[in-house]
Amino acid sequence: MSSWRDYAKKVVPYVPGEQPAMKFAVKLNTNENPYPPAPRVSKALEQFPAESLRLYPDPEARGLVRAIAARYGVESGQVFVGVGSDDVLATAFLTFFTGGKKILFPDVTYSFYPVWADCYGIPYEKVPLDAEWKIDPAQYTGDIGGIIFANPNAPTGIALPLDGVREILERNREVLVIVDEAYVDFGGESAVSLLDEYDNLLVVQTFSKSRSLAGLRIGYALGSEEMIRALMNVRCSINSYTMSRPAIEAGTAALEDEEYFNMTLDAIVDTREETKEALTEMGFTCLDSQANFLFVTHPDAQAEALYRELKDREVFVRYFAQPRIDNWLRITVGTPRQMQILLDALRRILHAR
Ligand code: PMP
Repeated sequence: MSSWRDYAKKVVPYVPGEQPAMKFAVKLNTNENPYPPAPRVSKALEQFPAESLRLYPDPEARGLVRAIAARYGVESGQVFVGVGSDDVLATAFLTFFTGGKKILFPDVTYSFYPVWADCYGIPYEKVPLDAEWKIDPAQYTGDIGGIIFANPNAPTGIALPLDGVREILERNREVLVIVDEAYVDFGGESAVSLLDEYDNLLVVQTFSKSRSLAGLRIGYALGSEEMIRALMNVRCSINSYTMSRPAIEAGTAALEDEEYFNMTLDAIVDTREETKEALTEMGFTCLDSQANFLFVTHPDAQAEALYRELKDREVFVRYFAQPRIDNWLRITVGTPRQMQILLDALRRILHAR
């Protein structure tokens, strides 16, 4: 006799970086921002009326949507918000990529893309990055159902210049192209400026990294009004109230503090460049990152062993047991102090060999 087990969906899930319980661990494994959210966010949360939680939130999260639209100079109808950009991306895969044709994404990129594709039964092809770990726009063509890539890419940190993004859009005028800009504020060029020109472009961003709000879960997509309506229709066929009242309030407040935003971005970029220099001196090869992490490899030490030895010292970095990148580590840029602890630990580990 068959059971529910035979009918349950079989999927191999995405595995996020670990959240260690140790209070004093140096956590450089999930690309979180080491600085607290903007002071206005704390104020908005302190003043948040718990009494209002009795009521459902605005299903359209209008306050937050208006603030995002104003920040990027687009219409409110061009903004879709979700519970982190993972939610926005998952909804976009379901809305735009389930038509039966294969989609394209780089072979080395955010490892959630193949998981969503498998979950929704979307065929896909991985397009190899070139020998310098870069996206080659000329490879993104054919009879396809969509394209997605991260820019800057993850875990390499390498950014594709805007003319490369434009080339992909030009070659695929009838195909939806999603540019995942989770890390763009740390140095990439945003494709938001191309939205007026290309009605096949959807740009996805997040409050998790550059706005220090990974715990609040806010992501958003910017595209044509027609695209945003399509996303809303799918979302409202699953869950109408995705954005909680506190997320709408605190997210809106986060956008009011551009000075603080720029200050923390500058600090992270400075620390990234200093850390890159120190790692290079120690013999590491570091790719040219425009993100808040460094992707590094050492000729004399296996990445997996380094990852484990760092973990023993309560320094957490990210290791991917995947083809092509299994001798590399992804290290989030933390505070100067955190990076000092990382560098000291690496020096000791390498010295002891
Ligand atoms: N895109 C990329 C490339 C990422 O690395 C991440 C973070 N894991 C996300 C999207 C999702 O981030 P969030 O859901 O926190 O917005």
